[in-house]
Amino acid sequence: MLTHKSNTFFLLAVLFLLSVLSFYIEIKWYYFVLVFLFWLLIAVAGSGLIRMNYHLKARSRSFTSERKVAITFDDGPTLITPEVLDILKKNNIKATFFCIGQEIEKYPEIFDRIIAEGHLVGNHSFTHSKKIGLFSKEKMMEEIASTDISIAKFLGKKPNYYRPPFGVTNPNIAKALKLSKHYVIGWNVRSLDTKIKSEKKILKRIKSRISPGSIILLHDTSLKSVRVLEQLLVFLQENNYEAVTVEQLLKIPAYEN
Ligand SMILES: [Zn+2]
Repeated sequence: MLTHKSNTFFLLAVLFLLSVLSFYIEIKWYYFVLVFLFWLLIAVAGSGLIRMNYHLKARSRSFTSERKVAITFDDGPTLITPEVLDILKKNNIKATFFCIGQEIEKYPEIFDRIIAEGHLVGNHSFTHSKKIGLFSKEKMMEEIASTDISIAKFLGKKPNYYRPPFGVTNPNIAKALKLSKHYVIGWNVRSLDTKIKSEKKILKRIKSRISPGSIILLHDTSLKSVRVLEQLLVFLQENNYEAVTVEQLLKIPAYEN
């Protein structure tokens, strides 16, 4: 597996080798730049694509042949969340919600309803700042700890799951999560429901990527996603998929004892 450490080790080793070689033969300066750019390309991809497990180990699916998938919702609670909960209730399905700390503080009743209806919750940072990738280790630890506290007020215990906003990881985030002892939960089916306008296209994207053990990423932030969910549930039923929680899929406890 290519990690940040092994990539950087490879960069330094090749640069060293080129430096030594340059005493004996002519090495063009841009060879050094090319090697560095190659390292940078991998580092950028690894920081943005959670499935690469570049900075940390994220659980992005289950390797099972059972036709089970986990539906997950990010960025709530919002005023849309009750609509999602209504549909899940109607279909008797339990999902996993990765919630933002400051939104839990804003909509405590809605958050309470998520838990009361038997869904699971995980930590999705406190502010969901667009600049989260630039935060120090200490600031990241604060983001994680304050959301744990917000959640614990309702649950009486700490959540074990953390999902990185935007799927962004880096050495500071990895160190903070190692200290906070969270399991990092990713996805292998990204619906892009906040970016793609057409419900049809979103559904097509999900359907073409889904397989046994998939973790599907949706957002409880728009009515468009609610309609996508409704149609997704029909598709799952027609194709004999069972929707379960992340805990049931990965067999990792969602909460601390
Ligand atoms: Zn998010």
